[in-house]
Amino acid sequence: MGNNKNNNLIKRPPVVVIVGHIDHGKTTLLDYIRKSNITEKEAGQITQHIGAYEITHNGERITFIDTPGHEAFNKMRSRGVKVADIAILVVAADEGLKPQTKEAIKHIKDAGLEMIVAINKIDKPEANPMKVKQQLAEEGILLEGFGGNESNQEISAKTGQGVNELLDLILLTAEVLELKADPNTNGEGVIIESKIDPKIGNIATLLIKNGKVKTGDFIVAGATKGKIRKMENDKGEIIKEATFSTPVQVIGFEELPKVGEEFIIVKNKKEAEKLAEMKKETESLGVQKADASKEGKKILNVILKADVFGTKEALEQLINDLNFDEVAAEVVFSDVSDVSEGDIKLAKSTGAIIAAFKVKTPSQIQRLADQHNIKIISADVIYELIENIKKELSLLLEPVIKKEYEGKLKVLATFKQEKTKMIIGGKVIEGKIKRGSKAEVQRDGEVIMEGKIVQLQHLKEDVPEVGVGKECGIAFQPAHSTQEKIKEGDLLLAYSEIEERKSI
Ligand code: GDP
Repeated sequence: MGNNKNNNLIKRPPVVVIVGHIDHGKTTLLDYIRKSNITEKEAGQITQHIGAYEITHNGERITFIDTPGHEAFNKMRSRGVKVADIAILVVAADEGLKPQTKEAIKHIKDAGLEMIVAINKIDKPEANPMKVKQQLAEEGILLEGFGGNESNQEISAKTGQGVNELLDLILLTAEVLELKADPNTNGEGVIIESKIDPKIGNIATLLIKNGKVKTGDFIVAGATKGKIRKMENDKGEIIKEATFSTPVQVIGFEELPKVGEEFIIVKNKKEAEKLAEMKKETESLGVQKADASKEGKKILNVILKADVFGTKEALEQLINDLNFDEVAAEVVFSDVSDVSEGDIKLAKSTGAIIAAFKVKTPSQIQRLADQHNIKIISADVIYELIENIKKELSLLLEPVIKKEYEGKLKVLATFKQEKTKMIIGGKVIEGKIKRGSKAEVQRDGEVIMEGKIVQLQHLKEDVPEVGVGKECGIAFQPAHSTQEKIKEGDLLLAYSEIEERKSI
């Protein structure tokens, strides 16, 4: 195991994407934030839409992705690239949840982004923020002050009411995420916009996620490469260098890079050429190899380095045959040579591990791998190499979630019974009941409802837990909105969930 501590890490600004149903006010909000946060110095300048912009709020930077239709966001999601840290879900208070709102919620969850709900258009007389909160609860999103802890803010993107508080919330959320990056390493990030200008040529907007990008740098994005000739920020200013979370427009790509593609700055022209070439090869390889029996499975990409051609071929076959029910391995590149910097870069851009068979990994390459969290499996015995790759595949398996019961309560009385919240009273007959635990309601040995204990009281006082023999009051929140009601005599079984890893 390598040491992947990097002491050069410093705090980096959050990258925010705004999502939600059409006409709920995303563009208005983006425009309002941009206009109200330009400094006096910048006020006279022409702002240009380059796909993202940066503001300063309370002395802290925040970057907003601002691409039309959030094409970049969608493409990146489909490639599994995470560009934003935080998503603002805009819901208009007059219309409430719409199909695209629900879709956006799913996207936010799939992408693993932190969510802040902005309930917009509260200046409208017909605005009904409570209804929005209720609808969100039905989707399993419980807002702060509404039985849960999801951040939210009522705003008007038109008048600006609540927008400052929303920006405060973004900074607060970023603080908790402890976003960090290294300002001095070679720049890397994501292409968030690209276009061809008939006069200028290929123009691409980079969102830098780590390191530094300078004019004159060689850049590679997927199979495209170039040398950065000119760089501008979102205020149209020509700049010589930029660092993380800053969006910059660059000129110099020889071909148009794809939106959503990850970019990386490399040392020189030769390296840029090599890397782009490798990527081209793996892309065409990927097309040829698309093995139908692996479709829909989680794929572990492998870069194979071997000592001689014969073993390389044999190992490639063995690795590609690692094809199980849920996961499979796929060699995306193979070569007969020691592990090199190019392999690390390719591993990074393809999310691969490196399998090194009877070849060396120089210590500076190992350090680079550690820095980028790239796993190198080295072995001199075929069996060992394959077993270690299988271990990596096991890590991709979805863990099995098991319930560990903590306590049982007999329901003695029921009070309020709503679709999303029920107040009940009862006696703990086994173990302990804890606030925040998940629980199932059983009747005649059958589970009739799943949910969560959101509030717990003993003798009218809020308490974190109640032990056996004691009576308590519980606010129970069903996992899904339900017509079902809890009855006297039902059992409530509180449990925690434990993840069990499977192996192949
Ligand atoms: P998008 O499709 O989500 O980008 O929505 P827009 O920003 O284009 O807004 C759609 C419409 O709602 C426009 O006519 C906006 O002027 C209006 N709008 C947006 N935010 C507000 C608001 O807070 N209050 C009111 N009254 N109208 C708003």
